[in-house]
Amino acid sequence: MASRGAMQKTSNMNKLLILLLLLCLQACAYKTNKAIAESGNQSDPQSHAPQKYSVPSLDPGLHQSPINIFTNRTKKEMNHDHFVVHFQDKVTAVENLGHTIQLDFNAGSTITIKDKTYTFKQMHFHTPSEHLIDGMTFPMELHIVSATENSVTPDYLVIAVLFKMGEENQFINEFINLTPSLPYSKTFVKDNSIKLNDLLSLSPTGDLGHHYHYTGSLTTAPYTETVDWFVLKKIYQASPEQIKKINTIEGNNARHIEPKNDRLVDDE
Ligand SMILES: [Zn+2]
Repeated sequence: MASRGAMQKTSNMNKLLILLLLLCLQACAYKTNKAIAESGNQSDPQSHAPQKYSVPSLDPGLHQSPINIFTNRTKKEMNHDHFVVHFQDKVTAVENLGHTIQLDFNAGSTITIKDKTYTFKQMHFHTPSEHLIDGMTFPMELHIVSATENSVTPDYLVIAVLFKMGEENQFINEFINLTPSLPYSKTFVKDNSIKLNDLLSLSPTGDLGHHYHYTGSLTTAPYTETVDWFVLKKIYQASPEQIKKINTIEGNNARHIEPKNDRLVDDE
């Protein structure tokens, strides 16, 4: 039978061992976290929280947006995707959604590509840009969002327009002073006072000009991975004052770039 002193000694030894084990585990966890952060796989602080994706059949998180587009690693496409744009230039309201400025379209404008028709929904701004070109961030990016109507989970088509600082932009002038300063409020606008055509000059043939195309996700919750992205190669201009004004209203609202994984970017 062990003496009381020996039992006490064994118990102290056990305590010491448990303490050492805990210290070791903590050190390992610290090392792992550091490795993840440095590998860049942990894209933003929000990724600690579990994210919900609305398409269960897809691998969540592998086809996320935005991405950094390396122009010398794209797949050159000889055949341009042909867009058919039925566009009624009617912006009905300017909304301050707190995190972005959004312009709403009247129903009836559609865009068809490869026999699939999407309805124009809304457009909104990000400051700075979400997509990067060869590692370069632009001060602003416009997203023109269209979606299919006939399914529970819509397919999206988003046209992304990158802006650099330069000339004052006529299109931005048409709505910037109508944007409500109070978050979660909207201003209804008169017919034809804001014309998207002043920005894009969408031709009846639907030629969007040269662009990068890849499949990705919405860049805000629920990060649905059913988005065809068309990032225009042409870089548009807006004055520094216009970009600053939009940034003051919406803040820095760009999502961090996401891993490209197995995706190819088409150069069209
Ligand atoms: Zn967006």
